[in-house]
Amino acid sequence: MHIKSLRLFFGLPLPHRQAAAIDVWRNGLALDGRLVARHNLHLTLAFLGSQPVERLGELQRLAGQVRGQGFELRLDRLEVSRHGLVSLGTSQPPEALLQLAGELNDTLRAAGYSLEERAFWPHLTLARQCRKHPAPGSPPDFAWTAERFVLFHSTSDEQGTVYHPLFHWPLAMPHL
Ligand code: ATP
Ligand code: MG
Repeated sequence: MHIKSLRLFFGLPLPHRQAAAIDVWRNGLALDGRLVARHNLHLTLAFLGSQPVERLGELQRLAGQVRGQGFELRLDRLEVSRHGLVSLGTSQPPEALLQLAGELNDTLRAAGYSLEERAFWPHLTLARQCRKHPAPGSPPDFAWTAERFVLFHSTSDEQGTVYHPLFHWPLAMPHL
């Protein structure tokens, strides 16, 4: 019997304005790798991989148990990994971001999901498989307020990869 499965991950979406600004700034880096499409720029909180569609209800319930706080995210660092991954990172990860990712991962693990064992690394991937170092330019300084997190369904075909937002959960905004 064929069981339908979906490639899923929890992440923070990027407001369109910031995605557009990052895209423009990224052009100045003259990256030679595979660029992440502008509409796909995001920050992964927990990667689930392929899951039976029947799990969606449980995932909704589990994510609803996570009580996250909103936070301002400042991306002020260009990071280049050994494997040609170029990403934006933050010199000061907000406590609320680390708590959100930690709680989400703990909650999912406790429910039996096997997740990435490595420590959470907050980053926004700009491009993969880069060989050349990015061209020197203005240092990044992007910021926005994270007000919700999202369960995304990732699909890929010849047209490329698309992340479909399935459900979202608000983060508490104590200052508003
Ligand atoms: P593509 O694989 O088509 O190039 P993508 O990597 O953006 O595109 P996915 O592979 O579906 O799309 O990944 C979705 C998100 O989850 C991305 O942020 C990706 O970096 C992250 N991710 C993918 N695989 C893993 C993994 N094994 N562990 C942790 N995070 C992962
Ligand atoms: Mg991938």
